[in-house]
Amino acid sequence: MMRMSPEIEIKIRALYAAVDKIIAETGVVCRASGKCCRFVEYDHTLFLTSLEAEILLKNRSMSTETIDPAICPFQVNGLCHAREDRPLGCRIFHCDPSYQNRSHEIMEDALSQIKQLCHEENLPWKYAPLHYYLHAFKDAIDQPQESISDPSIENELKLDQKALSEPDNNLSSALQKSLQISLPLL
Ligand code: SF4
Repeated sequence: MMRMSPEIEIKIRALYAAVDKIIAETGVVCRASGKCCRFVEYDHTLFLTSLEAEILLKNRSMSTETIDPAICPFQVNGLCHAREDRPLGCRIFHCDPSYQNRSHEIMEDALSQIKQLCHEENLPWKYAPLHYYLHAFKDAIDQPQESISDPSIENELKLDQKALSEPDNNLSSALQKSLQISLPLL
């Protein structure tokens, strides 16, 4: 998996902080129902960029966790156990129907900033389902003899393509998907 520089991580975390502030200003409230983390039950997919995935996964052990497509592995007893590292989708989307349009605007702006960062820093842009990265991360642990310094996840890891959706490298298509994932929460 790509190794993010400390400078890039600081920029992504600054974006998270700015987004959290914007979300707070909207007044939307999370009731901690845990719905948004149970993907199959609520028929939606959490998409995130590779930079977000690296922050989410880098300090977590996946070797002893079963990857279940139905749920995020970081939800425990209905609560998020990766709160400080959770990606934009987890921060921005809420169940409140009256907030949906605003959430789409916030998501679009935040993703545009990450894409711009990738462009400026000559980093690959990738936008894919959470389970794409979970399998990639687990495979990297299961196959430690393989190099994990290559910047391309596809080139460094064997992925179970049947279990994974294809990553999305196009921003407009990615944004369409980010809009879709909020709808089942209504
Ligand atoms: S990272 Fe946290 S908020 Fe996001 S899907 Fe997983 S448990 Fe839910």
